[in-house]
Amino acid sequence: MDKIKMTTPLVEMDGDEMTRILWKMIKDELLLPYIDLKTEYYDLGLEHRNETNDQVTIDSALANKKYGVAVKCATITPNAARMTEYNLKEMWKSPNGTIRAIMDGTVFRTPIVVKGIEPCVRNWKKPITLARHAYGDVYKASEIKVPCAGKAELVFTAEDGTETRELIHEFDGPGVLQGMHNTEKSIRSFAKSCFNYALDTKQDLWFATKDTISKKYDHTFKDIFQETYEKEYKERFAEAGITYFYTLIDDAVARVMKAEGGFIWACKNYDGDVMSDMVSSAFGSLAMMTSVLVSPDGNFEYEAAHGTVQRHYYKYLKGEETSTNSVATIFAWTGALRKRGELDKIPQLGVFADKLEKATLTTIESGKMTKDLALITSIENPTVLNSEGFIKAVREELDKNL
Ligand code: NAD
Repeated sequence: MDKIKMTTPLVEMDGDEMTRILWKMIKDELLLPYIDLKTEYYDLGLEHRNETNDQVTIDSALANKKYGVAVKCATITPNAARMTEYNLKEMWKSPNGTIRAIMDGTVFRTPIVVKGIEPCVRNWKKPITLARHAYGDVYKASEIKVPCAGKAELVFTAEDGTETRELIHEFDGPGVLQGMHNTEKSIRSFAKSCFNYALDTKQDLWFATKDTISKKYDHTFKDIFQETYEKEYKERFAEAGITYFYTLIDDAVARVMKAEGGFIWACKNYDGDVMSDMVSSAFGSLAMMTSVLVSPDGNFEYEAAHGTVQRHYYKYLKGEETSTNSVATIFAWTGALRKRGELDKIPQLGVFADKLEKATLTTIESGKMTKDLALITSIENPTVLNSEGFIKAVREELDKNL
């Protein structure tokens, strides 16, 4: 069989620990035998980030903007322990944070649904994709612990010096205060990313805030989404046969629990933080969740939602057997290859991505899986495979379909 040819390189962002080991296995077993893989390689492994003073992370994000599609392996975000472990010059920032700041995007997380791993919510038949606004609100708030009675006011001083004041509260004793913000620019870019991704994946888009209580703050989010929709997306949504639906956050939560899935749920920063963990744990496992960063100007970065699986890596280093789930990392590659195929008009890439995903799911459905899934599956007597064994089993299944 001839290998599939590519025209534009994928931006390949390699990473750390156990996921770096899986990365190579996936390439060797599931990609290189079938595709004349063209990538522009950036090593975001912590050692190399340290050597380059983190310049490599910036370069990889710029390459993502240049070529449009990247695939990223999980990476270590350094903390005090990592400073000693890797003898770091500095506590480098989270690569995902750096990339997101350069791309200015929104992260969409989608569970990978497979027979045998049933979501806790019985009526969830299709994945629910969660889009979280990743800027501002309570995450960039200023807070005061009020010590005694007094008056709290919100003051805005315009560039020309004019002041706008709003009474917050007349305290008659101690209490707490919080001031938070967001920017129109960031909300618009969030809205655009959501509408674009809905079109891209042909799924309905839901958005919810508490605009009845927060008549200026949350209402601005609602208005910007509505205005963006009317001006730029209404017709395209109609053509694609999808809808935009706004409701109150409490109504959205109630409806989500009763829905069958298959839509995108856009959330403000805090709601997204909380709801994405609810959705992911209810669907089964962090190792079965993909993540894609979509920028408002239409660039994509695909990755697994989980981390570097540090515990397994230490076992691996000791020569012990590991059973690490590679599904989300495989799906990061298929997502990126499919998108590259779409942009470059190479349908074979999309077909290959579909077949590889199907082979991965069929392998699990036939009872062959890694330990994390074996613990939660409804399939009786599953075969527990090690990290490499699972990838090889997927390859066998893939070869049957090619
Ligand atoms: P983790 O996702 O690596 O692990 C969390 C838990 O889930 C662990 O118990 C782990 O064993 C299990 N788990 C996760 N993925 C699994 C898989 N594929 N197969 C089997 N089990 C799996 O998160 P952590 O332990 O909090 O962090 C480890 C490192 O990963 C940290 O250095 C952190 O900075 C980094 N991290 C990176 C990203 C990213 O690059 N997107 C995200 C989160 C954490």
